[in-house]
Amino acid sequence: MQEYFVDLHVHIGRSLMGKITKRGTSNKLTFSNIAYEAHHRKGIQVIGVVDCVSPWIIRDIEELLDAGELDEIPGGGMVYSDDLVILLGSEIETRESHGCSAHSLVFFPGLSQVKEFSRIMDGHMTNLEYNSTISRLSGQELFDIVDSLDGIFIPGHVFTPYKGFYGNCADRLADIFNPSSLEKIPSIELGLSADTDMAHQLSELDSKTFISNSDAHSLRRMGREYNIMLMEELNFSEVVKALRNQQGRKIVANYGLNPKLGKYHRTFCFKCENITNLPPPVLECPNEPKHRVVLGVLDRLEMIRDREAKPNSKRPPYYYQVPLEFIPGVGPKTIDKLIGAFGNEMNILHRACPQEIREVVSEEITNLIIKGREGKLAIAYGGGGKYGKVKH
Ligand SMILES: [Zn+2]
Ligand SMILES: [Zn+2]
Repeated sequence: MQEYFVDLHVHIGRSLMGKITKRGTSNKLTFSNIAYEAHHRKGIQVIGVVDCVSPWIIRDIEELLDAGELDEIPGGGMVYSDDLVILLGSEIETRESHGCSAHSLVFFPGLSQVKEFSRIMDGHMTNLEYNSTISRLSGQELFDIVDSLDGIFIPGHVFTPYKGFYGNCADRLADIFNPSSLEKIPSIELGLSADTDMAHQLSELDSKTFISNSDAHSLRRMGREYNIMLMEELNFSEVVKALRNQQGRKIVANYGLNPKLGKYHRTFCFKCENITNLPPPVLECPNEPKHRVVLGVLDRLEMIRDREAKPNSKRPPYYYQVPLEFIPGVGPKTIDKLIGAFGNEMNILHRACPQEIREVVSEEITNLIIKGREGKLAIAYGGGGKYGKVKH
């Protein structure tokens, strides 16, 4: 078995894919760029594309299949240009009876299930073509549809205050899903503002694996969070086994943003424009309780947890990474220079030794990269939709 880099939450805009259907040369570049960026600059081997419910994307996939650029893999999933394995999926928003809504990631083995899924969802969504995620289904109803098509269902960025099940909808997933469905859910997505130790505070997650994905809407952001999975080969069913921790397949490690850098780590007051640094939980504005706030993930978890945050040795390690773009003084030119020297961003963030980095960039930037790797950077919390910042 072998270790692979996996990012299961990558958005491909309809317009990007839409252009591919027009057979001009530059149009082809868009999808190629995604594959190139993932494989060569980021060092990722599997991406989950989460916009496949759209008939436009389905048409694009069919054209790429016809052109021989995409191929279906017998174990599920597709391979693009012999380089990159793509899992076909969608991010869907569901709504509960008490009015809250949350996002889930769903993936299917092949194009036939995706097409059937799209056909069914057309009755439950408006603007399917324009790649909307919003459905009129409940989480349980969506689960039932996905399950009937041999798909897998993963609650997305579960702790975020706007569209995460715990952040926005419920104190327990058991309040949303019936017991047999909940058992079939293999994993939850941690989201950018939480890590494994924080999620450990909810005992109902003991039977779920944790995944960390980029939720990338741009090339640059791909791979800012990812997973290393141990698998026999690259296909849908191997990824599912790894998510379920079956037959030796497993998640070996999570790599994610230091949660303090996440956009929703601490409570934010819109009026005072202040991200709190008081001890959690901060549930209202410390200056004026009437001000509108958005709760931080740390604060929300403090309210709903049923035990302490602590390292769990049975869990794969969660490595903090501070992406190059967060490091003060590092712009696009420096990133290109570093990638030129070390092959891809993962090598720079996690593997290159200080002496080697020092040969390419300044002493100061080298030290910041190494401190980021060791979790020693001073960070100002993110909150209210603003990323945290590295202090220097
Ligand atoms: Zn989402
Ligand atoms: Zn305030």
